[in-house]
Amino acid sequence: MHPEGTRAVTPLTSLKGVGPALATRLEKLGLSRAEDLLFLLPLRYEDRTQLVKIGSLVAGTRCLVTGEVLLSEVAFRGRRNLLVRIGDGSGQLTLRFFHFSRQQQAQFEAGKHVTCFGEVRRSSSGFEMIHPEYRILREEQGAAMSDSLTPIYPTTEGVQQGRLRNLTDQALRAMDEAPPEELLPASVTGKLGMPSLADAIRYLHRPPPDADVQVMLDGKHPCQHRLAFEELLAHYLSLRSLRALAETEDAIALTKNQDRVDDFIGDLPFKLTTAQKRVVDEILTDLSQPHPMMRLIQGDVGSGKTVVAAIACLKAIACGVQAAIMAPTEILAEQHWRNFSDWFRPLGIEPAWLSGSQKAAARRESLAAIADGSAKLVVGTHALFQEGVDFSQLALVVIDEQHRFGVHQRMALRDKGIDSAGHPHQLVMTATPIPRTLAMAAYADLDTSVIDELPPGRQPVSTIAVPDSRRGEIVERVRAACASGQQAYWVCPLIEESEILDYQAAEASYQMLTEALPELRVGLVHGRMRPAEKERGMQAFKEGLIQVLVATTVIEVGVDVPNASLMIIENAERMGLSQLHQLRGRVGRGAAQSHCVLLYKPPLGRIAKERLAVLRDTNDGFVVAQRDLELRGPGELLGTRQTGLPDYRVANLVRDADLMPQVQITAEAIRKSSTERAAAIVRRWLGDAGRYGKV
Ligand code: ADP
Ligand code: MG
Repeated sequence: MHPEGTRAVTPLTSLKGVGPALATRLEKLGLSRAEDLLFLLPLRYEDRTQLVKIGSLVAGTRCLVTGEVLLSEVAFRGRRNLLVRIGDGSGQLTLRFFHFSRQQQAQFEAGKHVTCFGEVRRSSSGFEMIHPEYRILREEQGAAMSDSLTPIYPTTEGVQQGRLRNLTDQALRAMDEAPPEELLPASVTGKLGMPSLADAIRYLHRPPPDADVQVMLDGKHPCQHRLAFEELLAHYLSLRSLRALAETEDAIALTKNQDRVDDFIGDLPFKLTTAQKRVVDEILTDLSQPHPMMRLIQGDVGSGKTVVAAIACLKAIACGVQAAIMAPTEILAEQHWRNFSDWFRPLGIEPAWLSGSQKAAARRESLAAIADGSAKLVVGTHALFQEGVDFSQLALVVIDEQHRFGVHQRMALRDKGIDSAGHPHQLVMTATPIPRTLAMAAYADLDTSVIDELPPGRQPVSTIAVPDSRRGEIVERVRAACASGQQAYWVCPLIEESEILDYQAAEASYQMLTEALPELRVGLVHGRMRPAEKERGMQAFKEGLIQVLVATTVIEVGVDVPNASLMIIENAERMGLSQLHQLRGRVGRGAAQSHCVLLYKPPLGRIAKERLAVLRDTNDGFVVAQRDLELRGPGELLGTRQTGLPDYRVANLVRDADLMPQVQITAEAIRKSSTERAAAIVRRWLGDAGRYGKV
C-alpha cells in the first residue's frame, strides 16, 4: 500500500521477476512503486471460470474449452500453419497457429489433453481458434479453470498480460499481509454503501465468477466508486490545502476610497447587471481582507467580465497600489488596453503596456514606470510575468481567459508578485464555463463567482448548420446583411494545427469573397500576420471600414464589435463545442438579431453531428460545456496539458461527477477533524510531494 505515516515505499524491483529493464517499461504504465500496481485496474474481464462444451460453442465469443488432441499437422496454405484438432466428445475444434516453434509443434501429441482460451471463429472446416492461449495438461490433471474472472490489464510494449497478472498477484498478496489503513470515516463508507479499500481493490483485480461485468465495464460498481471517491478526495484535499495556505499569507487589504469606485460605476454608460453587482461585491469583500484573494469568475462569453475586472483594478489603484491584467493573446490584451484606457484616462490613470513583440525602447519605458510605481495599471500578455519585470507594489493580478492557465501557472504568478507586503490578490476569469461538479474538482483551490446573466437586450444568436455545397447561398446572405448596414465574420478555423494550411484556407476564402462581393470591403486577419497588421485589420472592422472580416480563429477570444451580426464558420465539423460557442459569442452583441452559420463538409460523423445540434439548440454556455464534457472528456474541455489537471488513475470526472458533492462534504469534515488523516489520503494517492508541489 502507499506510504502512510512511517511505512516505507516499495520499489518495483522488489517484486519477483522485475529487474531494472522491466521496471522502466512498467513506468510507461504510470507505475513507480510496487503498490501502484494495485491501482492499475483491468480494462475488462474474461470468463475462464466455466468450461464450454465444444458442441455448444458460438462464433464470436471468447471461451475456455478443454479436449483431447486428435490430430496435429503442419499445412501449407500460402504460409505454414500448425493445425491442431481437439475433441471433447460433444464436438471438434481446430486450433490454428501461424507462428510456432518446433517444440510447440511437438507438444500437441495425439492423446494429450489441452485447455485453451480464445475467440471462436467459424471456418470452412467448422469452428476454430487462432492463436489461443493454451496449456497442455499433465496426466490426471483437470482442466485449469480460474476461480475468478480473468483481468485484462492495459499493457505496454514488452509487458504481457500474464506478467501483469503475476505482478498484481504479488501486490495483492503483499496487501493481504499488511492491509491498508482505512482512511475514510466509517460514517461515509457506511452511508454510501462502499466496501473497504482492500476489499474493493481485491474485487476489481480478481472478481468472483458471478460478478456483474457490465456494471464494472460501465464504471458503476460500488468497488470502483470506493476507489474513485478516495482518489477525488485526495485531489480535492490537496487543492484545498493550497487554498488554506493562502489564508496564512499576507496581502494588502484594499479598504480605502470606495467613493472613487462607486463614482466610476455610476459614470459607466450602462447599469451593471444584478449578477455583475453580486460578483463585484464578492470581489471587494475579498480585497478588503489582509490575505490574498484567490477567486475565479466564470461567465459566459459576452456576460461582461471585463468591466468587473476594471472595477477590481480601480479599487487597487484607489488604494495607491498597482494592478496588472494579463490576457493570453496580443489581440485580446490590446483590446483590454484600449478599453481600460478609455475608462481610466478621464480619471487620470494611464495604463502601461507590456508585450513580447514590443520595441525595446517602449519596453524600457514601460518597465521603468512599472518599477517606480508611476504605472498604476499594467496591461499585457504573459510577458508581464517574465524575468526583469519588477513591480513597485503589485497588489492585484487579473488573469483573463483562465482556461489557458493551470494550477502551476497560478502558483507561479502568486510567487511573482510577492514582496514585503505579501502576495498579490488574484482574480482569474474564464469564458469557458465548466459544469459545477468539474469546477469543484479542478478549481478547489479557488473561490468561484458566476456571472449567470447577460446584459439586457441581447438576443440569442440563431444558429444553423449547412453543408458547404450551399456556400453560394451563404455568400448571398453575407451580401444582404452588409447591404442593410451590418457586418459579418467569416471564420476559417485552424486546420490540423498547421499555421500554413490555416493561412492558406483563410487566404482562399478571402479571394473567393472578394471576387463574389465586389461591392463590399473584405478584410483578412490571420495568425501569421504581425500583431500591428492584425490590429489594423481588427480596428478597421471595428470602425466599420471593412464589412466582412475573414479570420482564422484569432478572433476566438475577446473581440467586441456590436455591429457584427452574422458569423459564418467554415469546417465547423472539425471544431470543439466550446470553441464554436466562443466564436459564436462574437455576434449577438448589438440590438440586431444575429445569426451563425456552421458550414460543414459532409458526411458528418456521429459526434460532429451531435456537436452541431447542441449549438443549434442552445445559446447557454453552461449547457454547451456540459455536453462538451460528455462528448470529449474533461482534459479537452479544460485544454489538456496547459491546465495542470492531473490524470486520474481510477476516477473519471465525467462518469464519477455525481460523487463530487459528497467528496466535497467529506473533505471539509476530514479537514476539520484530522489534518493528519487528510495528509495521509493525499500521500496515498499523490505521493509524498503531492501532485501540486505543496501539500
Ligand atoms: P466577456 O464577459 O465575454 O469578456 P465583455 O466584458 O467583453 O464580455 O463585455 C461584452 C460587451 O458587453 C462589452 O461591449 C461591454 O461593454 C458590454 N457590457 C458589459 N456589461 C454591460 C452591462 N451591464 N450592460 C450593457 N452592456 C454591458
Ligand atoms: Mg472577455
